[in-house]
Amino acid sequence: AIDFKWIIENEGVVAANIKNRNSNANLELVLKLYERMLDVQKEVERFRAERNVVANNMKGKVEPSERQKLIEEGKNLKEGLITLEEDLLKLTDELQQEAQCIPNLTHPDVPIGGEDCSTIRKMVGSPREFGFPIKDHLQLGKELDLFDFDAAAEVSGSKFYYLKNEAVMLELGLINWTLSEVMKRGFIPLATPEIVRSSVVEKCGFQPRAANTQVYSIEGGDQCLIGTAEIPVGGIHMDSILPESSLPLKYVAFSHCFRTEAGAAGTATRGLYRVHQFSKLEMFILCRPEESDSYHEELIGIEEDLFSSLGLHYNTLDMASGDLGAPAYRKFDVEAWMPGLGRYGEISSASNCTDFQSRRLGIRYRPESTTTPKKGKGSSAPTQFVHTLNATACAVPRMIVCLLENYQQEDGSVIIPEPLRPFMGGLQVIKYK
Ligand code: AMP
Repeated sequence: AIDFKWIIENEGVVAANIKNRNSNANLELVLKLYERMLDVQKEVERFRAERNVVANNMKGKVEPSERQKLIEEGKNLKEGLITLEEDLLKLTDELQQEAQCIPNLTHPDVPIGGEDCSTIRKMVGSPREFGFPIKDHLQLGKELDLFDFDAAAEVSGSKFYYLKNEAVMLELGLINWTLSEVMKRGFIPLATPEIVRSSVVEKCGFQPRAANTQVYSIEGGDQCLIGTAEIPVGGIHMDSILPESSLPLKYVAFSHCFRTEAGAAGTATRGLYRVHQFSKLEMFILCRPEESDSYHEELIGIEEDLFSSLGLHYNTLDMASGDLGAPAYRKFDVEAWMPGLGRYGEISSASNCTDFQSRRLGIRYRPESTTTPKKGKGSSAPTQFVHTLNATACAVPRMIVCLLENYQQEDGSVIIPEPLRPFMGGLQVIKYK
């Protein structure tokens, strides 16, 4: 349910927001299509009303010549109506397609501009001083026999990988430790479907039909592979009205993620940094609108706790308007120091999507009345859209890059951070075999 009335009434605000967010949305076209749709809708109604008049006239006593005329008229109206209804369907689809590109509004504190305008909210730690020549994760992985990119390239294609030996334990250890930490904070664990309907992907604000899409579509069907668990978790309550007492709903979801990485050429792509398939734990909250800003802070706080427990050096950024994507009202990214790469790399991201996804997915709640409802009657307050938020708890490959590169020792071994050890059968160090 995109609020076209609001868009029309606030055309200037919407246009400025599109510009600030460097969005390719075409507001002019949306407004034109909307007007046309309303016109066709009116025509459909007019035709239906006329058809009813003709049908009523046929009921009475009518001269045979007059009856013939009415039959003819009814036939023409029916045919006209079919064409108009087809036009309406096509227009509605085109309008939805275009309107979907209009981005969410932007939090007033978001820095306006491109990627370079993002501001640092917090810096934790400093780059570790190594007293020896350091290796990157690819070299460490090769020497410690942790990955096989060559076999994966043959079996699947480029940007795929096999994890081997302790790297498998590291993936599962990271997932299990993170899951237990996030569950301690009251989140409900989920493991999600990894193939979903394209319509759900679209309602979450991704564009599987766009030219440079990140989404893998399944040929011959209307389904896609998920790029993030945010999509199936967002869909779990679609088209429903939640009782206010059930909010906030907090989930932590495990899934594999699949991304085409279209247009990623030229950016950091080596080794595990940018791959087509990876494991991830994603946090997702549905809440009352007035609480979404504070849950956004809670989510970034959990991410920071997790990365601090692992002893990483990282920065938290308030992402600039041009780097938010369509659904986010505000986005905080965490970038960690990756010594082998010699730079910071994004390891997680937390977004407040306000009602952008819930409007499209149809997720509402019914506020509990402040007055006591009449006997036998529930609350009669009008329903409202919930707000949704999502945040990475652990995206495995870049965590592996970070841990291997930051915890490497002079002898080429890698120390496992304390919190992960109980989740890796007590393993303390990855050594040469
Ligand atoms: P996003 O859902 O795009 O905010 O991504 C969440 C996190 O997943 C990022 O912060 C990265 O740590 C990780 N990630 C995203 N894309 C990839 C990729 N192609 N390969 C490896 N990790 C990725």
